[in-house]
Amino acid sequence: MSRIIAAAAIRGAHSVVRQAEAFYQKALEEKGGGAKVEFPETGYYLPMAYALLGAEVKTVEEVGPVLEEAKGLLPEPPSDRLWLPYLGNALDAGIATLLGEEIITALRYLYGTEPQPDCEGFYTDTWMRQLGIQLVDGRMPGFAAILGAAPTNEIAVKVIRELQKRNILIFVGSSVNGRSIVDQLLEEGVQMGWDTYIVPYGRDTITGIYPLNWAIRAALTFGGLEKGAGTKALLYTKARVHAFGLTLGHVDDIKYATGAGAINMGFPIIADTDIPEIRPTGICTYEHVVHELDYDQIVSTCIQVRGVKVKVETVDIPVPYAAAFEGESVRRPDMYLEAHLPDSIGLEYLGTRELDEIEDGRIEIVGPDFDDIEEGGSINLGTLVEVAGRRMRDEFEPILERQIHAYINRAMGLFHMGQRNLVWFRISKDTFAKGFRARHLGTILHYGLHNDFGAILDKVQVTIYTNREDVEQLRPEALATFEARDARLAGLTDEGVDTFYTCTLCQSYAPNHVCIVSPERPGLCGAYSWLDCRAAFEISPHGVNQPVPKGRTLDPKKGRWEGVDAAIRQHSRGNIETFNQYSIMLNPMTSCGCFECIVGLVPEANGFMVVHREHAGMTPMGAKFSTLAGMVGGGNQTPGFLGVGRLYLSSGKFISYEGGLKRVVWMTKELKEDQRERLQKRAEELGEPDLLDKIADETVGTTAEEILPWLMEKNHPALSMAMLF
Ligand code: SF4
Ligand code: ZN
Repeated sequence: MSRIIAAAAIRGAHSVVRQAEAFYQKALEEKGGGAKVEFPETGYYLPMAYALLGAEVKTVEEVGPVLEEAKGLLPEPPSDRLWLPYLGNALDAGIATLLGEEIITALRYLYGTEPQPDCEGFYTDTWMRQLGIQLVDGRMPGFAAILGAAPTNEIAVKVIRELQKRNILIFVGSSVNGRSIVDQLLEEGVQMGWDTYIVPYGRDTITGIYPLNWAIRAALTFGGLEKGAGTKALLYTKARVHAFGLTLGHVDDIKYATGAGAINMGFPIIADTDIPEIRPTGICTYEHVVHELDYDQIVSTCIQVRGVKVKVETVDIPVPYAAAFEGESVRRPDMYLEAHLPDSIGLEYLGTRELDEIEDGRIEIVGPDFDDIEEGGSINLGTLVEVAGRRMRDEFEPILERQIHAYINRAMGLFHMGQRNLVWFRISKDTFAKGFRARHLGTILHYGLHNDFGAILDKVQVTIYTNREDVEQLRPEALATFEARDARLAGLTDEGVDTFYTCTLCQSYAPNHVCIVSPERPGLCGAYSWLDCRAAFEISPHGVNQPVPKGRTLDPKKGRWEGVDAAIRQHSRGNIETFNQYSIMLNPMTSCGCFECIVGLVPEANGFMVVHREHAGMTPMGAKFSTLAGMVGGGNQTPGFLGVGRLYLSSGKFISYEGGLKRVVWMTKELKEDQRERLQKRAEELGEPDLLDKIADETVGTTAEEILPWLMEKNHPALSMAMLF
C-alpha cells in the first residue's frame, strides 16, 4: 500500500526540484547571480536550508549549492516494478521537496509574487517568538497545516472551529481543482490572521513550506541548536512541535512529496480521502499517514494521531469558549453593544471577602440586561468579583483580577480590552443572537477562577452593575484598592527581601533558560513579577516558580549571590554557572525567546539601545529586532545583549552595574511614550531630569553615525561615562 505513496512522493519531489532548478536558472539570467534572495524579517536566511545544511543563502548564486544537495537526495524515479520498503527513500525525497519549495518561494519574493493576496506568506521570526510563550504555557497545544479545500464552505468552517475550540494554531492554504480553503473561509467571513490563530499561507502546495520552515526555526531559537544540525533539528521538531498536516480533497504528487517532508519533521498527515494509510510507527510519534472520512471525527482523529494533549473547556454559555478566540476582535458593524468611555463606564474589580460573606456561584445583574439595550447602543459595565477561600490572600487579588481580560476574550464574539477602571467591552450581534446575556459573563468568571485557582479559592460571586450611578458608587472602593496594590509593589526592593524566584516556564522550548525574578527585575516576557511568582509558588508549590534564598552576597553591585548561583546551576542542569542580575556586559542573564524588548550595545556611543518587539524598522546596531532576537535567544548568555520586559527599563536595577538608564542612547519612540511616566521618574532619581529628551529614537536616526552628532549636541551623559570596555 505504502508503496503507492512512496512512488507518488518521489514523483512529486522530482517535479518540485525541477521547478526550483528552472526558476533558479531564470533568476540567474534575469536578475544575476548577485541579486539578493531573502525572506522578510528573519535572521535564518532560508530557514530549512540553514537548519538542515547550515547554508546561509543571501544571493541567487548561493541557491546553487542547496539545489545540488536537493538533487543529490532525490531517489531514482520509481518504476512500477520497483519494490519500495514502506517509506524508505521517499523520506529523502521529502527533504529534497522542502529544500526545493523553499528555493521557489524565496525566488518568488525576489520577483515580488509572494505573499499572495490575503495570505501571510513567509512567517517572520517575530511571530515565532511571539507565539513562543503561548506554546510553552500550554495555551496552544499544537499546530495544524491544512492543505486543499473542503467539499463545502460549511465543512471548512466546521473543521476550523473544531480546531479553534482546542486552541490549535491553524495554517490554511493550498488548493484542490483551483479551490482553496483560504477562499472558503474568506467567503464565510471568518477572521484570519495571527490574532485569531488562523493563518493563511498561500494558495498552492509549494507555499506549504512556510509552516514547515517556521517550525524548523523553533529548533534553532528555542532548542539552541547550531545551523546545519540536520538530524537533531528534525528530532527537535518531532519531540517538541506538536504539528500535523490535514489534506482536504484529492492528494496529488506534490502534496505527497510535501507530506513526506513533513513526516521527516515528525508531523503525520491525515487525509479526508481514501488514500492508503501508513500506520507503522517509526518516524512520527504515532502513525504517518491516516485517513478519516467522517468530518465529525476528523479533528479528534488528527489530535489522537499526533498525540496532542488538549483540554477542551466546557463552560455553560451559548458560544464556543477557548483561548483561540482571545485575539479576535468585534468590529463596529458586527457589534451588538459596547461599554466604552465616554458614553458608558467599564470598571472591574476583584476583592477578597470572608467565607461566610458570599455565596459561591451567585451571579446577580443589577440594572438593564443586554436585551434591554438597542442594537448598536452602549451599556455601563461594573463587574464586582468577590472571592473567598482559606488560602486566599489580598496579594493574590491583582493576579486573579488580571485574568478577567483573558477569560472574557475566550468566548467567541466577545471583545475585552483594558483593566481596572479603563475597560472596553463589546459583544457581537451573532453572539448576542445566540443568547449570550450579562449573566454569562459571571458564568465565565466563576468557571475560570475556580478552574485556575481552585487551590486557593472556595467561593466566587459575581455582581454586574449596569446603571451608571451604581458603577460610580463602586468606584471609590475600587480605586483605593488599586492604589494600595501599586504602593505595595513600588515599595519592594531587591535588598528588602531575602528570597527571589525562578521561572522555568520557557524551558520546554529553551531547555537551559532560567529567569531569576526579583522585586526590581521582572521576568523578561513582562508577564511575571516577583509578587506573581510568589503567589504562583503558593498556588502550585511544585510549579515553575520556585523560591531562591539569596544566600551570601558575592557582589552587591553586579548582583551576584551564592544562593542564586546555586539555583541557576541546578535549574540549567549545570549549563550555566553564574550570572549577574544587574549587568549586561559581564555574565548577563540568559534570554529565552519571548522578551518584550532587546537591549544591545552601541559601542560608538558608549551606551545601549532598546528596541521593542513590535518595531519592524532598523536600529543603530545595524539589524532589526527579528535579526537581533536570533542572536540573543535560545537560553544563551550573550554579553552586550539582553532580552528584557518593558517594566524593567525603569527599574532602579536596570543594568545598574553599567550605569542604568543613563546609558540608554537610543530607544524606539513608541516604547519611550508607552513608558514615559515611569522612565521620567527614574531619570529624575538619577539626577538627569532631561534624560528622555537626550535619548535618540528612529526619527533622529537609525545608525550610530546618524545619532552620534545629535547625542553630542544634547550632551548625553553616556558620552562622558566610563568606557564600557
Ligand atoms: Fe519565560 Fe522568564 Fe517569562 Fe518565565 S518569566 S515565562 S521563564 S520569560
Ligand atoms: Zn521565554
